[in-house]
Amino acid sequence: MSQALPTIGHWIDGQNLLGSARRQDALADERSQEVFNPATGTAEKRVLLADKTTVQAAIASAEKAYPAWRATPPLKRARVMSKLKGLLEQHGERICALLTAEHGKVAGDAMGELQRGIENVEYASYAPELLKGEHTRNVGPGIDSWSELQPLGVTAGITPFNFPAMVPLWMWPMAVACGNTFVLKPSERDPSSALLIAQLAFEAGLPPGVLNVVNGDKEAVDALIDDRRVQALSFVGSTPIAEYIYSRGCATGKRVQALGGAKNHAVVMPDADIDNAVSALMGAAYGSCGERCMAIPIVVAVGDATADAVVAGLQAQIAKMKVGPGSDARNDMGPLVTKPHFEKVRDYVEQGVKEGAKLLVDGRGVKVPGHENGYFLGACLFDHVKPEMVIYKEEIFGPVLGVVRVKTLDEAMRLINEHEYGNGTCIFTRDGEAARYFSDHILVGMVGVNVPLPVPIAYHSFGGWKRSLFGDLHAYGPDAVRFYTKRKTITQRWPSAGVREGAVFSFPSTK
Ligand code: NAD
Repeated sequence: MSQALPTIGHWIDGQNLLGSARRQDALADERSQEVFNPATGTAEKRVLLADKTTVQAAIASAEKAYPAWRATPPLKRARVMSKLKGLLEQHGERICALLTAEHGKVAGDAMGELQRGIENVEYASYAPELLKGEHTRNVGPGIDSWSELQPLGVTAGITPFNFPAMVPLWMWPMAVACGNTFVLKPSERDPSSALLIAQLAFEAGLPPGVLNVVNGDKEAVDALIDDRRVQALSFVGSTPIAEYIYSRGCATGKRVQALGGAKNHAVVMPDADIDNAVSALMGAAYGSCGERCMAIPIVVAVGDATADAVVAGLQAQIAKMKVGPGSDARNDMGPLVTKPHFEKVRDYVEQGVKEGAKLLVDGRGVKVPGHENGYFLGACLFDHVKPEMVIYKEEIFGPVLGVVRVKTLDEAMRLINEHEYGNGTCIFTRDGEAARYFSDHILVGMVGVNVPLPVPIAYHSFGGWKRSLFGDLHAYGPDAVRFYTKRKTITQRWPSAGVREGAVFSFPSTK
């Protein structure tokens, strides 16, 4: 392995571990992979891929830290979150620079991601209020009863490449604020921001072992799933892996929430404000190079006149878009994350052409001077996409927008409801009745009305339906409190001294 590249290790027990827990001195034997700057196509770092022993060391550290952390008053745990919020704001530019260097996203988009992550830390700082439980006096004669939310123990999270700072912050801040300890396995494609944030959490006062970060691939993930000390697993990533993690995790007795892929449709009604809808669609389709689980890759235009107007508007705005490295604030869209992903998205465009969709804007020829080896693909726009086409059915996760033409709102809704994914959707209309009917009957977890990316704010929960989420509880917000705690109901009676009662064999009731 090349020693020239800086190495990204793990964060275990409050320490940076630049090697396996088994062989700390033998870096040369360590499994690792290169981390590329997608704007230049060069490998700039190397990330260690944890073996089972390293993952077990992280779990052991979390297990050791749990009793004292569980016993720490919720207000003290919350204060660590408040302090972390300040540190994240203070180090925001540094974190965003890492996002741009490894993921490729433009600076403004990186800042938006981080801000949404910080809002989750802020919500986690309300944990004392959220954990208060419920109490009833006199459920029976001299009997009081209350429910409390107790932590689970060691919990874990596995996160995707596309929001390397935000998605980990959906998980561990609330998990630890609720009194659990945590092992995070970030994406091996852009691992640095999660590691830096863990170090900031330590600086904010999180004791060693409460949060551990192991970098790695399938081997690390499998070690986390199979370890019975891990009580709960949160996953965000693609649907095949979500399904795998859900079924294997449940089989080892864990509580699992596994958020998967998406193919979000935007419906444009004939009465919509077309100019505003087009602007909203531009950001939703091409922002972050289409690598968002809430991106809009499909527009369903109701009526040919609507479709013609939307397509003309999109073409005009695409012509003005600037594609280039995320480090240049003038750019609207950066590169795709890796070369294999770039090739996969480019192949989908070819497939769409072969399937007979009409490619109105072809971003495949885009050139970024000085960045010839970067993974840049310009915006692509297809018209006359049909539901039987692969480019309609599958998640492309790139800057490829397809327009499907339908005649009625019911036809648009049927398409959405029959699609395997149900993450997000939106409708552009001026008709309140249509919007209300759409929101009520659409089989999708997050719905926008004239809002293209209806990503819930931190104090609501995030999650899709159908094959976009396996499990019962959504991510972050109030559902996260439920996910990372177990309810215990205690019924208590203190009999008066000296009062003797006989045995009662009927089932206790208030009758
Ligand atoms: P991915 O499924 O390839 O990887 C996600 C995580 O799983 C990574 O940490 C990776 O190391 C691990 N992993 C990959 N292959 C594995 C295997 N065979 N066994 C065990 N673990 C494995 O996803 P990605 O490409 O990093 O992210 C993009 C995907 O995530 C898209 O499908 C996107 O829609 C989805 N996503 C969904 C949401 C949501 O909230 N629903 C949010 C963000 C991203």
